[in-house]
Amino acid sequence: MKNYYTIPIFITEKACPFRCIYCNQYKIANRLAAPTAEETKQIIETYLKTIPSDKHTTIAFFGGSFTGMSIEEQNQYLSVAEYYVKNGKAEKIQLSTRPDYISESILENLKKYGVKTIELGAQSLDETVLKLSGRRHTIADVEKASALIKSFGFDLGLQMMIGLPYDTLGKSMFTAQKIIDLKADNTRIYPTLVIKDTALAAWWKEGKYKALSLQEAVDWCAKIYLLFINNRVQVLRVGLHPSEGLISRQDLLDGPFHVSFKELVLTKIWKEKLLKIPENKQGKLLVRVSPQAVNSIIGYKAENKKLLKTRFAEVQFVTDEQKENFDFDYQIEEK
Ligand code: SF4
Repeated sequence: MKNYYTIPIFITEKACPFRCIYCNQYKIANRLAAPTAEETKQIIETYLKTIPSDKHTTIAFFGGSFTGMSIEEQNQYLSVAEYYVKNGKAEKIQLSTRPDYISESILENLKKYGVKTIELGAQSLDETVLKLSGRRHTIADVEKASALIKSFGFDLGLQMMIGLPYDTLGKSMFTAQKIIDLKADNTRIYPTLVIKDTALAAWWKEGKYKALSLQEAVDWCAKIYLLFINNRVQVLRVGLHPSEGLISRQDLLDGPFHVSFKELVLTKIWKEKLLKIPENKQGKLLVRVSPQAVNSIIGYKAENKKLLKTRFAEVQFVTDEQKENFDFDYQIEEK
């Protein structure tokens, strides 16, 4: 699989006539207004200076609801991105939008500009959870938009959230399974955070909403992550991008935020696998994994390695190019 450098352009709340209960894009994207076409060009130029020219670059329009803007506004941004693709400086264009802002004419226009991937915020595919999250679109909208996007030949991304009001692990697993059934090529998993100046913050203050603990969020995401990987859906992100306001907790009231959230999730997945190896306090354990997985099998702050050292006399990890994802094998030598 190719590794892409992503140039993120945040189109902040330009096209949302209302706000989902958890959303304050101003806080999340850390910007006060969406960039103009000219500013978009400058952002791309700045990023390109830092990206090696032999790398694959994607220009990605995040945040807000790209296809909710007028066609003229969309085209202003798209023509900037298309310029860099045509000049060989970027390889792909992708964007995120709402499922109810997809139609044949919108997709025809995106095709014209060479957009490759469309990501939809599905968030939850459970009726009650979706309704309470204030998304104001239906599950049928997600299904219809996903089928249309696939029929036009775009790559489909379906993002989900865990821990929304009335969500449970079962409902989140159901959402993940539906995302697989809708033939998504990729996904992002976001734990719900209580961010200042949102409707969810008011619920939280009134005691009507309780956020997931960090441990719960890690446990849920570990199960969901594995389900996606086992069904060949690429997981592009787990956890929100750590903006300054989140790291300093200035914007964050509650919720499972951690700067290394994905590492915690991968550590948990590996820990469960490693604990199935029968303990042998006299033995030397040798574990073989792919080069990409070696850091996560050792774990966040070497947590898994330390745990194994309590179960074996010696522990060693070696890399094996033949392995991928969570494949591994092991042998135990008596000392
Ligand atoms: S659709 Fe996205 S940007 Fe718009 S209010 Fe909801 S979460 Fe925020």
